[in-house]
Amino acid sequence: TAKMAKSSFEYVKTFEQDDTLLPNTWIVVRLDGKCFHKFSEDHNFKKPNDIRALKLMNYAAFKVLYEFHDLLLAFGQSDEYSFVFKKKCNLYKRRAAKLLTTINSKFSTSYVFYWNKFFDQEPLKYPPTFDGRIILYPSDENLIDYLKWRQADVHINNLYNTSFWTLVLQGGLSPAQAEKRLCGTVSADKNEILYKEFNINYNNEPNIFKRGTLLIRKTLLNELTKKPLSVIVDVHDDMLKDAFWKDHNILLTH
Ligand code: ATP
Ligand code: ATP
Ligand code: MG
Ligand code: MG
Ligand code: MG
Ligand code: MG
Repeated sequence: TAKMAKSSFEYVKTFEQDDTLLPNTWIVVRLDGKCFHKFSEDHNFKKPNDIRALKLMNYAAFKVLYEFHDLLLAFGQSDEYSFVFKKKCNLYKRRAAKLLTTINSKFSTSYVFYWNKFFDQEPLKYPPTFDGRIILYPSDENLIDYLKWRQADVHINNLYNTSFWTLVLQGGLSPAQAEKRLCGTVSADKNEILYKEFNINYNNEPNIFKRGTLLIRKTLLNELTKKPLSVIVDVHDDMLKDAFWKDHNILLTH
């Protein structure tokens, strides 16, 4: 009978491994698109930055934050998004696989579900894949450095990509020639190429391209009900500056 079957087979449950995450540490989940170099070409992403793709990433991340209240913030750029849980988070009793898979699943399905909202002229040709990992940070300083690291990555990549695609699309260089031209150059050299040869001031590029997107929760006052209202807002501030962490005490209260 069903009842006997359960008792004789359920020992297999003991093969499951404990993956409880250390308490009182920052849990970071980072997702990254698989082979998005190809995915972006297959879907005619504008190079170096397709704003539709960035907005879709942000919207999918917004849907994740909206559902998972234990998330404090999220930071996204290119094909990646990092989600930071509050230190005291006890969702799924801090089981790593549960946290990673539900966040990845909600993000991935939202990316597909809302594709048409941003790519109205561009059909989705095949389902995208996102990988994911979990990293634990024991101190606020470690977490802040993590976010600074991801934002510094946006800057480095975007300056390179902006220079590369300007040389190709406006300068008429082949991709190989552009790569060679940029080989060994530092930031100042790339800024100079953009400014002197193409009259592009890199500083004037949109902040979303240069700095990525930070999603944070804010409490506003509802004008009608006079009650506090929690909202999720997107900002493109410079987290590498100390002033940012003085203005936003987002971590301290959690
Ligand atoms: P992997 O599977 O190892 O992550 P990948 O091809 O996804 O490989 P990444 O290092 O993650 O490599 O880089 C993502 C790539 O996706 C970028 O280099 C860029 O070509 C493309 N891409 C992502 N977002 C955009 C965007 N908004 N606009 C244009 N291109 C984008
Ligand atoms: P949890 O988040 O803990 O998994 P759950 O509501 O998903 O909660 P499950 O034990 O996974 O609980 O059970 C899945 C439930 O989904 C079933 O009990 C049933 O109610 C419903 N369900 C799943 N597949 C079908 C189906 N093909 N037809 C009808 N109901 C289904
Ligand atoms: Mg990768
Ligand atoms: Mg990728
Ligand atoms: Mg990436
Ligand atoms: Mg279920």
